[in-house]
Amino acid sequence: MNANAHQLPIITPASTNPANEIAKELTGRDYVSWSAISTFRQCPLKYRFRYVDGLPEESVSSALIFGTGIHSAVEQHYQAVLSGEEPPDVKRLMLAYRSAWLPHDPDAIQFGSTETRTSLDALASKMLTAFLNSPAASVQGRVLGVEEEIRGMLVDGVPDLYGRVDLLTEDSDSLVITDIKTSRGKWSAEQVEDSGEQLLLYSHLASEISPGKKIATRFLVLTKTKEPVVEEHTREVEPGNVKRTLAGVERVWRAISAGHFYPAPSTMSCASCGYREACRAWAG
Ligand code: SF4
Repeated sequence: MNANAHQLPIITPASTNPANEIAKELTGRDYVSWSAISTFRQCPLKYRFRYVDGLPEESVSSALIFGTGIHSAVEQHYQAVLSGEEPPDVKRLMLAYRSAWLPHDPDAIQFGSTETRTSLDALASKMLTAFLNSPAASVQGRVLGVEEEIRGMLVDGVPDLYGRVDLLTEDSDSLVITDIKTSRGKWSAEQVEDSGEQLLLYSHLASEISPGKKIATRFLVLTKTKEPVVEEHTREVEPGNVKRTLAGVERVWRAISAGHFYPAPSTMSCASCGYREACRAWAG
């Protein structure tokens, strides 16, 4: 263990929140995740298929598996930093990336029109090389956790939020919560703004870790461009934004617990949806 790393406090134990029981009856899990909330916002029927009915997906997009693989590889790098070990080279990071493909039936993977598994593997190698050569590979301050579990009550009447923080670091005056992303291109200021809600909620829960410190959220974006680049977008948390996000989560949970499930077709969501047949068969 790195001398800089310290044992995190348990962020928030499972609360006695009565909404946890409602969530368990509905979905089998006594919490909600950000992924569940954003799935409902994308398409309420897709949420029902996945979280209430537990339907297996008919297909999975290559982009999802690719992103998971890059994520695992970058996390392995930071795990080595946390443990005080020599960071893995790109060959070892590629093993972590490849492991993301193993659980999937190759016939059920939906590739983009110009993609193959070989072309994606070559892109992954370029992206991970760019990451290792970027300033983001060296941590500013100290690493407190990688893939750190976080759980706690956000709002009365809403089940605990449960999630995993990709990277948690601390410097002399700030606690920084980092989310690792892959993207088709560089992020605009609007994308940073629009993607910040998950980290705002995690920052709300994490404020107990280092009382009195400022909390910042940070996106580490690896682009899937021909010449991949690694971008860092760091922002200080503004309390007004947390309040707005909490209000949104409360409305989503109200709709879920009231059973408001309906299809919300859109070109972007439906093209990569793994429930297209179940959706066509749905009659209300
Ligand atoms: S196919 Fe489209 S409308 Fe149907 S469940 Fe999937 S995302 Fe929703």
